[in-house]
Amino acid sequence: MINFLYVGIDDTDSPDGMCTTYLASQIINKFEAEGIKLKDYPRLIRLNPFARFKTRGNGGVSLKILNDDRADRAKDIVLDEVERLSMFDCDNTNPGVVFYEGEITKSMEEYAFRAIYEFITIEEAEEFGKSVGCEIHKFKKGRGIIGSIAAISLPLSDCTYELLAYRSSENYGTKRQIDYESVYRMDKETFPDTFENIDYSEGYIAIEPKTPCPVLYGIRSNEVEALKKAKSIVEVSEPIVDWRIFKTNQHTDMHIQKALNISSMKQYGCYEVVGEVKNRPTIIDGGHMFFYIFDDSGEIECGAYEPTKNFRKTVSHLRPGDLIKVFGGIGEQNTFNIEKFQVIKLNDVEYQNPICECGKRMTSAGKNKGFKCKKCGNRIESSEKVPVKIERNLENSKFYETPVSARRHLSKPLCRMNI
Ligand code: ATP
Repeated sequence: MINFLYVGIDDTDSPDGMCTTYLASQIINKFEAEGIKLKDYPRLIRLNPFARFKTRGNGGVSLKILNDDRADRAKDIVLDEVERLSMFDCDNTNPGVVFYEGEITKSMEEYAFRAIYEFITIEEAEEFGKSVGCEIHKFKKGRGIIGSIAAISLPLSDCTYELLAYRSSENYGTKRQIDYESVYRMDKETFPDTFENIDYSEGYIAIEPKTPCPVLYGIRSNEVEALKKAKSIVEVSEPIVDWRIFKTNQHTDMHIQKALNISSMKQYGCYEVVGEVKNRPTIIDGGHMFFYIFDDSGEIECGAYEPTKNFRKTVSHLRPGDLIKVFGGIGEQNTFNIEKFQVIKLNDVEYQNPICECGKRMTSAGKNKGFKCKKCGNRIESSEKVPVKIERNLENSKFYETPVSARRHLSKPLCRMNI
């Protein structure tokens, strides 16, 4: 049986610089120079979006090579590069490298899903890693081993690809020289095979990072050929010193668990759950919009936050009695942050005062005293309002999502849902 060596790397970057994918790409260049070949695309695996120590996107990287007589040399290259390039000065940068020989086991796959759904401590990760035979290397606190083990272990039943182009180091922190017109052209020619390129509602170029990291741009796609075409269209006026295609779990909804009901959901978990809208969504200071949903088990506050921009307008159309399925995660304030929702059944009936024979809507004649018509004086004894079908700005069965600019790495956009 062919034996593979898996390499997991995480937590090498900081908000001020570096990117674990760039470091991985440097390692791959060194591998190639020595004839060490990867057995698959390098993988960029996004983990629990609520992991407390994450600096940005909570992503770990893994590589798979043949476990032959050059495996020891490969390990040396990995450790040297992590030592050379990690942002050790940052308190929150605690790199972890893991080597694993053999087949990925069921328990490793389960661990990887736990790293997406829950919190794992460094101690737990170390204990688990040792129990399955991982060779563990911790730098500083070594928190990166949590993500490293997950990055090699996660099965990808669904996947996407990301092409990352890297800048020359003297340009780090400067404005990226990307020709935006060419990005619009690229999107027109390659969407929906590529996606998340541009947020048209905000005029926001999503392929361009906003941090001083080595990445010039990142293009996301369902398949590799579209990425190569996209790269040939995007024009830049600064050097691209390296580029790499990663296989990822981005935009797969792998973080979303199907919740049995509202009360079964836990803080810092990501779920899909069905609930009835309890009250009209209201906007508070700071521009965040909130409302409650409920079911037989309980209720939870849902939020569409300010960065979700126009999505709040869509949410504002919800009314009490609407049945919706929400997708998202429960954050710091115990509020369900909505990533998208599907309308299951709109409440398109409103109870209104009856219309008088003369055509005017009647008004209440007092508590339990029925209705009266102000125009012709007509009276009705019954105090029962009448059901009226109302026009809605939302549609049954339809999905509504946050804009590209506010999308989480793991969130599956509607363009990937065959809708
Ligand atoms: P990116 O590489 O996209 O910039 P990031 O900088 O946000 O991501 P990392 O540098 O990957 O994040 O750091 C996240 C840290 O959180 C890593 O040390 C990782 O091991 C750890 N981590 C990942 N998943 C979990 C989890 N489920 N529970 C606790 N810690 C986690």
